[in-house]
Amino acid sequence: MKSLSNQVVSMKPSGIRRFFDLAQTMDNVVSLGVGEPDFITPWNVREASYAALEEGYTAYSANAGLIELREEIATYMKERFLVEYDPTSELIVTTGASQALDIAFRALLNPGDEVIVVEPAFVSYGPLIELAGGTVVPVACRPEKGFRLDREDVEQAITERTKAILLCFPSNPTGATMNGDELAQIAELATKYDLWVVSDEIYAELCYDEPFVSFATLHDMRDRTIVVNGFSKAFAMTGWRLGFTCAPEIVTREMLKVHQYGMMCAPTLVQFGGLEALRTRDQHVPSMVKSYRQRRNYFIQALNEAGLPTHVPGGAFYAFPSIRHTGLTSEEFAERLLVEERVAVVPGNAFGESGEGFVRASYATSLEQLQEAILRIQRFMKQFEVTVLKDSHS
Ligand code: PLP
Repeated sequence: MKSLSNQVVSMKPSGIRRFFDLAQTMDNVVSLGVGEPDFITPWNVREASYAALEEGYTAYSANAGLIELREEIATYMKERFLVEYDPTSELIVTTGASQALDIAFRALLNPGDEVIVVEPAFVSYGPLIELAGGTVVPVACRPEKGFRLDREDVEQAITERTKAILLCFPSNPTGATMNGDELAQIAELATKYDLWVVSDEIYAELCYDEPFVSFATLHDMRDRTIVVNGFSKAFAMTGWRLGFTCAPEIVTREMLKVHQYGMMCAPTLVQFGGLEALRTRDQHVPSMVKSYRQRRNYFIQALNEAGLPTHVPGGAFYAFPSIRHTGLTSEEFAERLLVEERVAVVPGNAFGESGEGFVRASYATSLEQLQEAILRIQRFMKQFEVTVLKDSHS
């Protein structure tokens, strides 16, 4: 038989899934592995999709999505993030932020174009960029800077082939956030070197200390930024597969072609759910954010006290403790914690080389589960005879 695509065959399966699958084979596991809300989608959102089904909305929508939903997204972007988009030409409703990223890279990249990827990074970025013909240039965020991005580090990585910078703050996996002034430093580079920016803002609603700043609101950025966002995290809708892009018409037009041929449209019933989620966001999002903040406050302090130095993440729902002092690699640590204590975390190197020496633990699980995880981690850490750190190191 003829061989399959070299590029796809050489891709590594996601390091997150490997641990998730391993944990599935074991009993009594406390899973801090997979990054998804533990809330069920609010009832009125589910009901809106039922109603759409009953009313017979079973056909394709417009390729770019239901116009009512695009209008609502435009209102949301304006009211919540202070940036205006034309719903008829600058918005596309996608099947999750995942597909939004895919169409963004396919529309932007020519073979050999380089994309600066802020690392440690969400596992899909590298493979999606490479499938679109691009080359990944990782730039590590430094732990000693609370995993914020450094302007000099980015500038050093820029070459003549650099086409775009991919940002994700709040970050998966570190939970780091960047304020407007810090982001403006990166924006200056985008202007100076005439770069596109893909800003993955999927965790925008989940900011606990400082208000979120959308990259598109920074000087000169609206027309060189593709904002990627979605319903999975803020609205507890991971299984619905609903996201969107906001970008100037010049690139939206091209992304829409990829979307049209590859996906046709996001599922129509799901789009009705998304519409209801946005319309009623004030009823649901603040209480979920409050709950994540409480869990963050408990979990980060408890990890530090258990001997795992952890910076305080300003957003998302991940802790990214250092495990360097244990003498284990990230994979060894995660595997032993799972086998010996039945706690599932993800090795940091699943998010790029710069994640080595760390693990990712999601705190989007109940407080009781988090407390149980901490008891087990405390027991596990005893063997390493580490100094108990009372404070986070950032
Ligand atoms: N971007 C980041 C940073 C993520 O963490 C995730 C999911 O974990 C996604 C995108 C994909 O989200 P969606 O469920 O909307 O495809």
